Amino acid sequence: MSKESKYFDTIAIHGGKITSDNGSLVPPIYQTSTFTFDTAEQGEARFAGSEEGYIYSRLGNPTVKLLEERIALLEGGEAGLSFGSGMAAVSAVLFALTKSGDHILCSKGLYGCTFGLLQMMEEKYNIIHDFSSMDEEEDIVSKLTPSTKLIYIETPINPTMKLIDLQLVVKIARQYKIPVVVDNTFSSPYLQQPIKEGCDVVIHSATKYIGGHGDVIAGLVVGREDFIQQVAMTTKKDIGGVMSPFDAWLLLRGLKTLPVRMDRHCDNAEKITSLLIKHKNVENVFYPGDVESPAYEIMKKQMKKAGGIISFTIKGTKKDAQNFLNRLKLIKIAVSLGDAETLIQHPATMTHAVVPEDERLKMGITDNLIRLSVGLEAWEDIWEDLNQALDG
Ligand SMILES: *Cc1c(COP(=O)(O)O)cnc(C)c1O
Repeated sequence: MSKESKYFDTIAIHGGKITSDNGSLVPPIYQTSTFTFDTAEQGEARFAGSEEGYIYSRLGNPTVKLLEERIALLEGGEAGLSFGSGMAAVSAVLFALTKSGDHILCSKGLYGCTFGLLQMMEEKYNIIHDFSSMDEEEDIVSKLTPSTKLIYIETPINPTMKLIDLQLVVKIARQYKIPVVVDNTFSSPYLQQPIKEGCDVVIHSATKYIGGHGDVIAGLVVGREDFIQQVAMTTKKDIGGVMSPFDAWLLLRGLKTLPVRMDRHCDNAEKITSLLIKHKNVENVFYPGDVESPAYEIMKKQMKKAGGIISFTIKGTKKDAQNFLNRLKLIKIAVSLGDAETLIQHPATMTHAVVPEDERLKMGITDNLIRLSVGLEAWEDIWEDLNQALDG
């Protein structure tokens, strides 16, 4: 695009530019490991950074770069960076911002592997962490130390669907000059843009809504130009969790339909929530779009809509929860989320099995908690399947 649109839907299709495409409508996949130099001097200039251009695909690739430009535009950030997985993105950001002796303050409730990574950073590298519910200013402030180098947030929190007020956290973080990093996977840039709320870095598992079709594992980061450059030249380049050009191409394709898919995910989830709430075998439903939810006000403030993920507890034990999953026919038992297919999982024994039981219970992940990623099927079919399995 010569001039970027101000509309999300248009940027999702046209944002960014590729250096050379021969007029091809769809961006070419630059499936190459390396790039040739015309002369030895050109090679020298590329390495010295005095001439723009590609060197080697771990350092940059045209198809991947187009995706990085597009995600930066969609998040309202200066620059984007791609990774081979969401966890490669999370680890590259955390390691770039910390050194031994530093402290990270996290939201209470995190993606299971992020929790595992933080444990490892503490045990092996003395980079310690603490948790805050982040719903009270006093609690956040009391948990900051002189060594706190970043605040790390997920909102909505996986899988309890609690929300964190981004403006509240940003207000405190600015006072103490601490960067705020947000894992925005559950919302996608269509529903929530943390950088516009004043946050510093956004991370995505692009595996989820951005890809949207369950066929790629990938991660993305958006932030200020200097920070992205720093990560690109250190923890990305030297640890090496890079994205393949083909995966970038799949994600560029996924992004084109992100707005229409998200609208449908949200509409379906709202409908299913209203039905689950009324079911006699359901104990509690956690969905930020439910007007009764404590998260509703924050959702209205910082999200376009409430998203496609619902968590709920059924009346019963772990065995009852497993039996319920086993009775489903259309809905697939699988971790991951954001796909066209409705997916369901049991956090206590699946995504959060690595979290010690007492921590898990503190996070609200009980044995009867179920997480549902509402897909794009007709809501009538999704409900019929849930209903028969709940009745059974
Ligand atoms: C899936 C997920 C991740 C990890 O992403 P991968 O692409 O699986 O490595 C991180 N954070 C959240 C919230 C996720 O849902």
